[in-house]
Amino acid sequence: MCPSTPSDQHVHAPATSRIDVILGDVSARFARAGILDPRVDAELLVAHVLGVGRGEVQAAAIRAAEIDTVALERLMRLVERRAAREPLQHLTGVAPFRHLELSVGPGVFVPRPETEMVAQLAIDALRVSASPAPVAVDLGTGSGAIALAMATEVPHARVHAAENSVDAFIWAKENFARVNAPNARLVFADLADAFAELDRSVSVLVSNPPYVPTQAIPRDPEVRLYDPPEALYGGEDGLDVVRVLAGVGLRLLHPGGTIIIEHAELQGAPVREVLTAAGWRSAATHPDLTLRDRATTAIRP
Ligand code: GLN
Repeated sequence: MCPSTPSDQHVHAPATSRIDVILGDVSARFARAGILDPRVDAELLVAHVLGVGRGEVQAAAIRAAEIDTVALERLMRLVERRAAREPLQHLTGVAPFRHLELSVGPGVFVPRPETEMVAQLAIDALRVSASPAPVAVDLGTGSGAIALAMATEVPHARVHAAENSVDAFIWAKENFARVNAPNARLVFADLADAFAELDRSVSVLVSNPPYVPTQAIPRDPEVRLYDPPEALYGGEDGLDVVRVLAGVGLRLLHPGGTIIIEHAELQGAPVREVLTAAGWRSAATHPDLTLRDRATTAIRP
């Protein structure tokens, strides 16, 4: 017999099929595993297994409704994996991003809520562009999140996205097909030399590059073990790719065009310095919804 705690046994073979009780047990299990929003993850996993929305799960819990055995077994297998800190989005296969639902899984960076605000900066810059068909570029698009948000929310823009990881590209391709925005195009390319045909014609260049300093290994297992390292680590100070973007942006953007780069909380000043030293004007850093510095913008002279 393998030793297990009473709570483990409980999760393996729940004494109940009542959704409200299961949600309580699973939340407690997730809390012990160090998951930040245990109840949210519990509700979303139940919703996934039942093929309904989270609100319906909450309603079912209030009614003390029951879950059938097959669904319960499936749920418990997913609960085990989530308790071992596999990302929720890998288990459900989807990640929300603004109004989109993107396919994600192993090999692609899971889109983050803070990047929704980076996409907002890009969308705003596109909307104020004087051009009737402004061109936007998303370098290192990953799942395609920022590019597809721009394409769908600014339909008069033309959006080009590049990704150079084979694994990530496969997910991006699926998402581009799923969203099917007529004004969005995806290419497999290195960000350093992507889109030579667009030189000096781009209005908005946006990127969520890898920016984690090599030594700053992320604490959360979901990030450390499941996000692709090439989407996370940006060299010793984390800014290797930012320096490349500063040069690529001068090539791609027309004068007056905007560059938007996501970065870590403490990288605002160094990113402004990189951009200003490369010749960019009006470098400005913007906070995310948790008031942490999250992105820097600048204007091409
Ligand atoms: N924000 C990411 C994290 O959660 C890092 C993303 C990146 O390097 N682009 O670790």
